[in-house]
Amino acid sequence: MRAEQEARRHLSIRSLLRSGSCAEASEVEPGFLCSPTNGLKRYSVKNSITIRLIKTRYLRILVLMNDNNVAVWYGEGPKENVRKALLSLDLNRLNGKSILIKPNIGRAAHPEQGINTHPQAIAGAIEILQQTGAGRIAIGESPIVGVDTMEAFKKAGIKEIADQYGIELIDLNAKKPVIKEISDYRILKSTKICADVYEFDIILSLPVAKCHMHTGVTLGFKNMKGCLYKHEKVRYHQLEYEEGRIFEEKTLDSAISDLATILRPDMTVIDGYIGMEGLGPSGGEAVRSDFAVASFNPMGADVFGCLMMGMEPSSVVHLKVIGERLGLSLNPDDYSLCGEKAENYTSHITKYAQPPTSITIEYPNIRVYDCESCSACLSTLMLFLKRFKDDMSQYLLNDGMFHIAIGKGLDDTVKEGTILIGNCTRNVKHRGKFVPGCPPVSSRIYKTITGMEPPDNEPEVK
Ligand code: SF4
Repeated sequence: MRAEQEARRHLSIRSLLRSGSCAEASEVEPGFLCSPTNGLKRYSVKNSITIRLIKTRYLRILVLMNDNNVAVWYGEGPKENVRKALLSLDLNRLNGKSILIKPNIGRAAHPEQGINTHPQAIAGAIEILQQTGAGRIAIGESPIVGVDTMEAFKKAGIKEIADQYGIELIDLNAKKPVIKEISDYRILKSTKICADVYEFDIILSLPVAKCHMHTGVTLGFKNMKGCLYKHEKVRYHQLEYEEGRIFEEKTLDSAISDLATILRPDMTVIDGYIGMEGLGPSGGEAVRSDFAVASFNPMGADVFGCLMMGMEPSSVVHLKVIGERLGLSLNPDDYSLCGEKAENYTSHITKYAQPPTSITIEYPNIRVYDCESCSACLSTLMLFLKRFKDDMSQYLLNDGMFHIAIGKGLDDTVKEGTILIGNCTRNVKHRGKFVPGCPPVSSRIYKTITGMEPPDNEPEVK
């Protein structure tokens, strides 16, 4: 019976792909996703056996969400981990498909820093994709604002790999973006996505495993933020809920989940060879954990990415919200592990240190008010003080202290002239200088205080 169902499913998928229409999808089982990704909406059809007819010549259909296989490999270095994880999956569907590899090359940094996807992990993926008979393969990135994409590729060792395998490198910011409406939005009515993303059949998200001070982790879903055009990435940190449309999650988490409703990986490979713990995405410590996770199910990949980092997937807010909105499970038991090493994956978990949960002030002339903040603003504040505390000596108040505040529980006891960080401090913004954002980035705090860009202008978030 199961084999029959499988056969029927593959038939349906093939006919869908051939026709470019969902019209023939009525026999597809519940739980399938019909996703026109070239400009329209995605339709989740969980619990329904009828898929509506959506016909457009731009239509691309992927039937992925019921593929719950997740491959885990470890202990053999960046290239072999990725190669063997990928070989544990059924890759036939990639035959003849054009594939955009979207690594995380947010900054111009060396591979061993744990900031970017390791070049050998990308090499491993390319080798397997080429063997599988994939069509055009390219590596594309839209890095942090202020970073030159090609320079970042070079320093990260990606250019060398691209040259070695004859792979195209794409600066995703080079073309005008496509503006996508988000019909079922929480906070983003529309968003600017790099046009090249829509030139490919398959988007392979290939992030490096990192803790992220604003989003818990940055894995496959979060890595799609690197498909946003230039400053659009920063805009995600500056959003506010509309009146009557307010959610308890940080606006950044809601925005990432909005993005996931219109753009998500068709395939994910997580490079956990050298990741980053603590104040990621760039201010933490590199950690060698030597694993790779691969899956056609974006949530399955991120769930096992979290587990390999010693984290509980449901503690990652954007994953929880995406799971709820798209009907994707965060329960590891709902996924099938594959690869001969996968069963013993718990023996290879590396516990990544989390960003600090309380602030220790080591600076005698700085007063921090922290009342009911969340870890994102706390981490931003820590990074800000780490980078700029010396520059703040000229902004002391009449008590000889620099005052700075975060959190939603502040009141008028905050000293007049305090720097108020994040949307949560809006209720006391009359008490000092208000820096909007949820959370704002530390360079924006610097600019609000000084009126200037930071001297090093080091990009910090993605
Ligand atoms: S504390 Fe900061 S990051 Fe957290 S919800 Fe408030 S403004 Fe947003």
